[in-house]
Amino acid sequence: MAAPGNRLALEGGTPIRRQALPYGSHWIDEDSLQAVEEVLRSEWITTGPKVAEFEHAFASLTGASCAVALSSGTAALHAALAALRIGPGDEVIVPAMTFVATANAVVFQGATPVLTDVDPDTLLVDPAAVQARITSRTKAIMAVDFAGQTCHYAELLQISKALQIPLVVDACHSLGGSYLGKPVGSIGLLNCFSLHPVKPVTTGEGGMVTTADPQLAAFIRRFRNHGIDRDLRQRKGDCRYEMVELGFNYRLTDFQCALGLAQLSHLPCWLQRRREIAARYQEEIGSMEGIRPLVVRDPREHAWHLFVIRFLPGSFRVPRQTLFEALRQEGILTNLHYLPVHLHAFYRQRFGTGPGLCPNAECAYQEICTLPLFPRMTDHDVNDVLRALKKVWAHYRK
Ligand SMILES: *Cc1c(COP(=O)(O)O)cnc(C)c1O
Repeated sequence: MAAPGNRLALEGGTPIRRQALPYGSHWIDEDSLQAVEEVLRSEWITTGPKVAEFEHAFASLTGASCAVALSSGTAALHAALAALRIGPGDEVIVPAMTFVATANAVVFQGATPVLTDVDPDTLLVDPAAVQARITSRTKAIMAVDFAGQTCHYAELLQISKALQIPLVVDACHSLGGSYLGKPVGSIGLLNCFSLHPVKPVTTGEGGMVTTADPQLAAFIRRFRNHGIDRDLRQRKGDCRYEMVELGFNYRLTDFQCALGLAQLSHLPCWLQRRREIAARYQEEIGSMEGIRPLVVRDPREHAWHLFVIRFLPGSFRVPRQTLFEALRQEGILTNLHYLPVHLHAFYRQRFGTGPGLCPNAECAYQEICTLPLFPRMTDHDVNDVLRALKKVWAHYRK
């Protein structure tokens, strides 16, 4: 019998934390607030100089020659596929283990996402599975740097080059990471970022595409502005403009870009803090039989967006769902990344996908759990996570 103080919150005991700890969270300091206020008091609150300044800073950070700011990571993915002229009849390789937006972007363009299985140790798309899914209709390969670890790019780039199929990187988790010394943002032909509050840096909502190709960048600039070929507000004299193709309003405001600039200046520090927390988790969890963190591979700099553990089958008296719920009741708001795309109702109905299509992703889904990890976490918060995990582990392990 467990001591009364150790009774799980799920079973009526006292939770480890009264104030729940989220799995991810933003950090906005005084400097950021001031930068935003300054822009809000100025003449340009959208489509002004801060957008270009933020794009410049983002490009230089990622080693890309062009960066285009958009209103969300989803808009960034959509714009990237539009720039590649993906359309009806085309297929795009998409990893099964990702947020639905990666695959949705393909559907926005009327094309078919071909959901592809992942490496069971890292949950990164498996290059051999990518190769096996390619057909004469494949017009792009999307890779997702799951949890912040960069994909197997040596292999993926080789496939992309040999078959002349462009590589689009969903880098929504991996800003600040690298692969063989190459920074995330200069690996794929197009690289897409999210600036949502749980992501490495935030503008509230926001996104970015980086590329070395100025023509693709020019397309995306137009695409985010209704497909209109010039920005009238920036131009004197000539007042004519033309909409040359279908676009959207995917613009990011100037005050958001001011926030983004302030955020970027903190990124190195925040990455360092994420690494510290991840190292602590790895060390402590290493001695907990039945729990295994995702495998980290060389030669990469991990951006540690998420810390994902697996509850190994046969090691616990209850299913993952109960372990997950028990942690949440302790005040540790664990999360699930992700239900594989092909198991979502929309994909089953529209594309006839279902269980059996990507067994590694499906199997992982039964076991995964995301622990809190964000730069503002204190050592005390980290200890709380580990105490709660140990409490639940000790209670339910076989
Ligand atoms: C967050 C995220 C997106 C979408 O970004 P939004 O800014 O929320 O639109 C896409 N792909 C992945 C992998 C993400 O984590």
